[in-house]
Amino acid sequence: MRRISIFGATGSIGQSTIDLIRRAAPGAYRVVALTGGRNIDRLADDARALGAEIAVTAHDALYEPLRARLEGSGTEVAAGAGAIVAAADRPADWFMSAIVGIAGLAPGLRALQHGTTLALANKESLVTAGPLLMATGRQSGATILPVDSEHSAIFQALRGEDAGTVERVILTASGGAFRDLPLDDLPGVSVAAASSHPNWDMGQRITIDSASMFNKSMELIETKEYFGIPPDRIEVLVHPQSLIHALVGFCDGGLIAHVGPPDMRHAIGYALHWPKRRHCPVERLDLAEIGRLDFRAPDPQRYPALDLARAAMAEGGLSGAIFNAAKESALDHFIAGRIRFTDMAVTVRETLNALLLDKGLVHADMTLDNIRAADGSARRKMDEIVRHSGR
Ligand code: NAD
Ligand code: MG
Repeated sequence: MRRISIFGATGSIGQSTIDLIRRAAPGAYRVVALTGGRNIDRLADDARALGAEIAVTAHDALYEPLRARLEGSGTEVAAGAGAIVAAADRPADWFMSAIVGIAGLAPGLRALQHGTTLALANKESLVTAGPLLMATGRQSGATILPVDSEHSAIFQALRGEDAGTVERVILTASGGAFRDLPLDDLPGVSVAAASSHPNWDMGQRITIDSASMFNKSMELIETKEYFGIPPDRIEVLVHPQSLIHALVGFCDGGLIAHVGPPDMRHAIGYALHWPKRRHCPVERLDLAEIGRLDFRAPDPQRYPALDLARAAMAEGGLSGAIFNAAKESALDHFIAGRIRFTDMAVTVRETLNALLLDKGLVHADMTLDNIRAADGSARRKMDEIVRHSGR
């Protein structure tokens, strides 16, 4: 019986993971910890149904209502950011890191320190702390398995290959909600319109990040950090159907592409069963019916976020943490209606321009404290820029 913990259990990736666990043979898994945020009804229902050892909400104030919902279930209850990290100390064999945002970093790191296999959906962990995360895994001997669909695709294409023969990696991108919108209309798009993805059903934040391509810019950094591929060998290709998730180009000119339906249960299931492959309940593609696959180069004017990620990668150090915090904060301001859609890239650029000059901040040791300091500086700078711009 494998012991598994799901952090961010109530979100899109967490629920897809739970779906796979529920379909497994009885007794195949023992659920250790489930964590969530405000949706304590869902958290409690899943904890009961799966017989979880502990359920943790991120919010202290929700401790009592969660406890009441789990009364008599045998599931322990805890609340707060510290309790989430502590839950990562509970022995488990497999740990799904699916909290959204930098809040996912500390618990994932803790699980890695214990040698737990880390299924990594939380892309912010690699973007803000890639070298620290990978080194922690190496030290404890823990395996890190990518769950982002592109990175799972690259991981699968590289299986059995000599890493030295890789010439380039191509990340595909759907182009998001506004890929065909006239550029002049982009500043005025609504939060609701940006929250609807043409192909994937995901959390709101990553869906908006797909429309702005900030999601792909995070994935550029993830690719560099996880696979150790230099940024100039990582390309982005717009592929509206989202059926090819990534391609790896080798020194003999061959490309290996990973093709599959846009359903995260594939990448989650691959990480769950790795190194084996097991049946997965995703749609089987009928390529004759699909008929065609389209590709185009990303327009830098429509998607300025890609160049911003490249600037952060060129600087290195804690610039990923600064980039991520600026991006998270810009997204908050957009969702709150304080800035327009296109202002997200403008304000992230201004934040990077200001903070990447601070070499002491950017090139401090990569510790959790310094990452948090860089994150805080970027959020304060972003708030100041938004306040002063009158946007
Ligand atoms: P989501 O918003 O649907 O769910 C996020 C989860 O994190 C929820 O359980 C929420 O309660 C929890 N959470 C939010 N803030 C928290 C905090 N401060 N402390 C503790 N828990 C908190 O997000 P999602 O779409 O499932 O994405 C999760 C992660 O996976 C993100 O990093 C995202 O970029 C990545 N990812 C998602 C997809 C996808 O298809 N949804 C694909 C690739 C990567
Ligand atoms: Mg992805």
